[in-house]
Amino acid sequence: MSQTQNLIAGSRCTPASVWRGSAQLERLPRISREQLLPPGRRLVVVAPHPDDEVLACGGLLAGLPVGAEGLLVSVTDGEGSHPGSPRWTPERLRRTREEESRSALARLGLDLAGWEWPRLRLPDSGVSAAQLVDRLRELIRPGDRLVSTWRHDGHRDHEQAGLACAQVAAECGARHFETPVWAWHWALPGDPRIPWARARRLDLDDDLVERKRAAIQAHASQLDGPKPVLGAGLLETLLQPFEVYLL
Ligand SMILES: [Zn+2]
Repeated sequence: MSQTQNLIAGSRCTPASVWRGSAQLERLPRISREQLLPPGRRLVVVAPHPDDEVLACGGLLAGLPVGAEGLLVSVTDGEGSHPGSPRWTPERLRRTREEESRSALARLGLDLAGWEWPRLRLPDSGVSAAQLVDRLRELIRPGDRLVSTWRHDGHRDHEQAGLACAQVAAECGARHFETPVWAWHWALPGDPRIPWARARRLDLDDDLVERKRAAIQAHASQLDGPKPVLGAGLLETLLQPFEVYLL
C-alpha cells in the first residue's frame, strides 16, 4: 500500500464486524482455486506496492501447490508510504519493503523457485496505466491468469494497475481478475459502488488465514508508528476467511 488518498482519505474504516455480519457476502457465489487457476495456467500477480500481493490474494498464493510457477510484478518499490518521515526515507523504504515482501511470501509458504519477480520501479503514487501497459505487454502471455488490484479501489496506483491489466489481458488473451483492497476500508456491504454481480468469493480455511496474517506481519514498515499505514482496524477487515475476485 501507499499513502492513502481519494476515497480513503478522511473516511473511517468499515469495521470488520460489519463485513462479517453481511448476509450478502455470505451469499456471494463461490469460486474455486481451480477456476481461478486451472492446471497448466500461469498465475500473474500485479502488485502496485510491496504488500498488495498479500493483501489482495495472499490466500490464493498460500494455497498454491508446491512447484507452481508464476510471475509477481512489483509495480513500484513502495517508497512513498511515509512522506516526509525522517525515519522512513524513500531509500530505506525501497530496501526494506523488498525484504519484507520476500519474508512475507516465505511466510505464506510460497516457493519462489519457480517464480519470476520483475520490479518495474514506477514512481509510488504516480503510476500511469499507459506506462504500465507498455511494461506488461512484455510480460503477459496468452492464457495467463492475471490478478491485480481493482480499477476503482480508491487509490490511484491500485486503480491504474487494474486498468492497465484489463487492457493488456484483453489484448493478449489472458484472463483478468480484480481484487478490492482499500475498498474494504471505505465501502459498506451492499455498497452500489462495488460491482457485486461480478464478485466471486474464494473461501479460505483457518490455516490459510493464519499464513496470510503472518505474511502481513512481515510488512513491519507498514505497521510501524502511532499512525501505521495498515491500522489495526483495516488489518482485521483484510483478514476475513475469504477473498473476493471480480470477474
Ligand atoms: Zn497498495
